Amino acid sequence: MTEKPMGFDTLQIHAGANADPATGARQTPIYQSTAFVFRDADHAAALFNLQEIGYIYSRLTNPTVSALADRINALEGGAGTICCSSGHAAQIMALFPLMGPGCNIVASTRLYGGTVTQFGQTIKRFGWSCTFVDFDDLAAVEAASDDNTRAIFCESIANPGGYITDLDAVAKVADKVGVPLIVDNTSATAYLCRPIDHGATLVVNSTTKYLTGNGTVTGGSVTDSGKFDWTASDKFPSLSQPEPAYHGLAFGPALGPMAFTFHSIAVGLRDLGMTMNPQGAHYTLMGIETLSLRMEKHVANAKKVAAWLEADDRIEKVTYAGLESSPYYDRIERICPKGAGALFTFAIKGGYDACVKLIDSVELFSHVANLGDARSLIIHSASTTHRQLTPEQQEAAGAGPNVVRVSIGIEDADDIIADLDQALAKATG
Ligand SMILES: *Cc1c(COP(=O)(O)O)cnc(C)c1O
Repeated sequence: MTEKPMGFDTLQIHAGANADPATGARQTPIYQSTAFVFRDADHAAALFNLQEIGYIYSRLTNPTVSALADRINALEGGAGTICCSSGHAAQIMALFPLMGPGCNIVASTRLYGGTVTQFGQTIKRFGWSCTFVDFDDLAAVEAASDDNTRAIFCESIANPGGYITDLDAVAKVADKVGVPLIVDNTSATAYLCRPIDHGATLVVNSTTKYLTGNGTVTGGSVTDSGKFDWTASDKFPSLSQPEPAYHGLAFGPALGPMAFTFHSIAVGLRDLGMTMNPQGAHYTLMGIETLSLRMEKHVANAKKVAAWLEADDRIEKVTYAGLESSPYYDRIERICPKGAGALFTFAIKGGYDACVKLIDSVELFSHVANLGDARSLIIHSASTTHRQLTPEQQEAAGAGPNVVRVSIGIEDADDIIADLDQALAKATG
């Protein structure tokens, strides 16, 4: 088309998907096939040698899944993207090429509850570890990093406490330490925030949430900026040295900015098998076509609902970065200029019991452990998603006992407010 890079609204519909070359199908077909026929023995050998790009087996790549990966890549402004089976799979896929036994990551205390458990407990089984620090204390982030640190990890808009990370500042610390910054962009999406523009090396997304936008399938993605030099130190041997798991190919020297992505396909997806299936990719491709429209409405509704709650006597506190009262309000313009997302928490006078009553009294809101749906969702984090955390970790994550989390949907704002109003009356009456 034109020389000028296309806008977000165009890319979310067109990137990665041309009309089907075999049939002319305008919508990306669901290539429901496990394997793909080789032209001849030379073609098969070239594919396995990464000398030619093509489809072999759907654990590695699949045309429907690749269309989605390419689209997310365009929206995030990356060099390469892989999709996988969930957001949690994406986090492991992001770390896998970087880590080895004895290596650690430094992560923000303000994270999705499941991520705190994954990083605080489960990755220890691989001989990896994580140090959690307050990412507003940049000196602490640097001090927590040592010779075995292989990544710094945070969320752009942090789930659930209405926190926006100063990505530019954290990226500078990562540069100084000589490791990649990994940003979980799930709560913001590329529409509100592009972490790579702020110095992130890797961006992970749970596509389960806003990218799909309708609560149908789980999925994840890892986007690499292509800008990190894996060969500049001896810290990342899987990417800088001959990789024994792939007949001695040195991914970094051979593939440059695509090293991370090819390693993630040829070794990560091949051997860990956390693959996205084509049916799942199809639902997410459908959803992503309206991402910008939905995010505009999510943000507009969240602003209205948060402002209404803040003015209400029954509410103790609202933590939404889109409110002027938020200590993170002044970061919006720089980090996520189109808005602070639609996920926030509020504390109710009446504590734990009032929270439970509120949840049992809502009618429009769905009580589910999910976020980023077109529907408004509500949950009491302390008794559910953040239950595995200690009381101190719950407080640090903004999920104390008197706090409920809402994911504001794209219904009429007046209806959302009316539902909270009647439920608050029952909860605090
Ligand atoms: C949901 C979520 C995840 C995990 O994603 P799944 O698709 O549920 O595995 C990770 N990070 C954030 C911020 C999330 O909201």
